[in-house]
Formats: sequence, C-alpha cells, structure tokens
Amino acid sequence: MNAGKTMKLLQSSFNYRERGMNTVLYTSVYDTRYGKSRVSSRIGISEHSNTFDTSTNIFNDIKAVDKNIHCVFVDEAQFLTKQQVKQLCQIVDELNIPVLSYGLRSDFLGEPFEGSKYLLIYADELVEVKTICFCGKKAIMNAKFDEHKKIVRAGDQVDIGGNEKYISLCRKHFCEGRLK
Ligand SMILES: [Zn+2]
Repeated sequence: MNAGKTMKLLQSSFNYRERGMNTVLYTSVYDTRYGKSRVSSRIGISEHSNTFDTSTNIFNDIKAVDKNIHCVFVDEAQFLTKQQVKQLCQIVDELNIPVLSYGLRSDFLGEPFEGSKYLLIYADELVEVKTICFCGKKAIMNAKFDEHKKIVRAGDQVDIGGNEKYISLCRKHFCEGRLK
C-alpha cells in the first residue's frame, strides 16, 4: 500500500540506530515481496527483520534477547492477532520498551483487520499516516482492483500486494468504486 508507512518505520528505526541504540523489527510472514526477513520500502531502503505468524509470541521473543533493546517496530501490524497486540502491550508495560506498529486499519472490503482493531483499542497513541485520493481528498480506504482496473468486492482478506493491486481512495470513491 502506498501510504509510505514502511518508509516511516525505517526512518524511525534509523534515528534510533544513528544514536547507537538497538531496534528490533518485525514484519508479517505473509509479506515475502522483498524476500523473507526484510522490511523494505518502495524507495529502496531496507533493514533486517524478524517475521511473525499467528503463533509467534513476540513478548517472549523480546524478553529472550540478551542485549538492551530501545524500540520494537512492527510492520504489517494489521496481521497481528489480538493476543499479539496484548503481547506488544506487555513489552511496553513490563519491559519498558516502546513499540511502534505500522499497519492498515481496514481491508479492501472495508472490514477491520484483527490487529488494527485491537491496536485501536490498546495503543497509547494513534498517528495517522495521511494519503491522498486521486480527487485530492484524504484517502482512508484501501481498494483492491483487478486486471481490468475494476474494483474487487469479494475475496480473502489476506492477499499481499502493492500498487499493482491496491489503491488508496477517499470514502466516496471507495463506495462508488471509482479508481480515477
Ligand atoms: Zn476521492
């Protein structure tokens, strides 16, 4: 998705490292577009990353690391389970390590992702990464389109892709199914 959230994640992680601090990155095991174990942005920067699937206990992982960690970053946070969102809270509350999660709030059908839903509830702070629809309005929806550039209204929630498959739209144009 083209909101530039991965770029923001990598920038923030870089800021920590530049000051000699340690960061740990996670991304979903679903996203293998740039190869496993990497978080990469469209402009070409990337960093080594751990991956999580629905069985990963991120709290236990972080607790087991035997060096000082200053920040944990999670990309594709929409794919977290409710349990994993609570594990991230434990990292903050019990280990005193900040966690920054980046994700989409809804899928291409306009339904919430589990991870995003519980992050909305449990996160201390929410920051919107703003994107613009083709009409100039704020884009808040993520539409999926097919090879005929028609909006897709059915299918599995998890279908990894980038700008060849997804587009950010304002609510009006998402509802109308207009992509341009
Ligand atoms: Zn629009």
